[in-house]
Amino acid sequence: MSDWVSIIHKLRLKQFRKRTKFQLIFIQNMGYQIIDGKKVAKEIQEQIKKEVEHLKQLGQKVPHIAAVLVGNDGASETYVNNKIKACNSVGFQSTLVRLPEYVTENKLLEEVEKLNQNEDIDGFIVQLPLPRHINEQKVIEAIVPSKDIDGFHPINVGRMVLNLPCYVSATPYGIVQLLEYYKIETSGKHCVVIGRSHIVGSPMSILMAKNTPIGNATVTLCHSKTKDLKQYTLQADIIICAIGSPHFLTADMVKEGVVVIDVGITRIESKDSPTGYKLLGDVKFDEVAPKCSYITPVPGGVGPMTIASLLKNGLLAAKKEIYR
Ligand code: NAD
Repeated sequence: MSDWVSIIHKLRLKQFRKRTKFQLIFIQNMGYQIIDGKKVAKEIQEQIKKEVEHLKQLGQKVPHIAAVLVGNDGASETYVNNKIKACNSVGFQSTLVRLPEYVTENKLLEEVEKLNQNEDIDGFIVQLPLPRHINEQKVIEAIVPSKDIDGFHPINVGRMVLNLPCYVSATPYGIVQLLEYYKIETSGKHCVVIGRSHIVGSPMSILMAKNTPIGNATVTLCHSKTKDLKQYTLQADIIICAIGSPHFLTADMVKEGVVVIDVGITRIESKDSPTGYKLLGDVKFDEVAPKCSYITPVPGGVGPMTIASLLKNGLLAAKKEIYR
């Protein structure tokens, strides 16, 4: 790609982030559309806020969500703080349970049980990853499914597979909502999901294949053992990339008109940023975007939707809409 084309696309992403009316008009006239997760998440959060206000007016309890944070990992602290902030911004009550890095597995399981039993708590999450001495799966399975708003418990995962009411894990749920919001046709399309984690890739592949309005796609699930991954991505109408490898997906790997959802978030040090780091996606945005019909940026794409979807699950838990 020539330098000036690259400059235009960098400018376009910059302009998307500043989002003045003029700039958005400019952006919309350049072929591909940026999927604005920040905007959609904000709308969802406004809607949740209204519902919470309505509950208050009816004299009902406001949703109360808890988060368990073990240790002092910087990224986990940021994620949990953002979740707590988001809870407060929509009027939820929130509780943060902090435990030291060296907490025993038994002590953590006790805390989970306390939250299970606490009738005032509607739903909660245990921020992952946990320290190595703790069996993560054991902790996930200790959470009562009716309060498992992360949707990681095998009961919720199984119910998702069977198309039964459940909490769908927040990132895949957020992606489905983005596709819905932008009215992106998925039926009959070839969707290539890259990455098969329990949190993103695997549930995403199931959701895209389901007989639901966002679904009915023919899905290929690629992972670290996939041979010649490019032969699959070149056939894809929709690519959902969730591997955590910065700039992995390049222009030569996609066809014209593809929809690209970039889930990856990798923090790298940056002297230019006031925070001291910047976030990189799995997609080489500047060169892939010109070939796309739709694409999510990083940051501002899938990330904000994850939090909005968690809040949605929190509201569902408080209203006892999934488990009565
Ligand atoms: P993970 O490490 O649990 O799983 C990564 C998956 O990618 C694995 O299944 C592996 O097989 C596959 N993979 C790795 N390298 C590959 C390669 N070269 N080719 C093909 N497949 C490959 O990660 P995860 O929890 O699924 O997260 C993936 C990325 O998404 C990370 O960057 C993470 O930070 C990000 N993430 C973002 C959000 C969000 O809200 N935007 C939420 C969750 C995760």
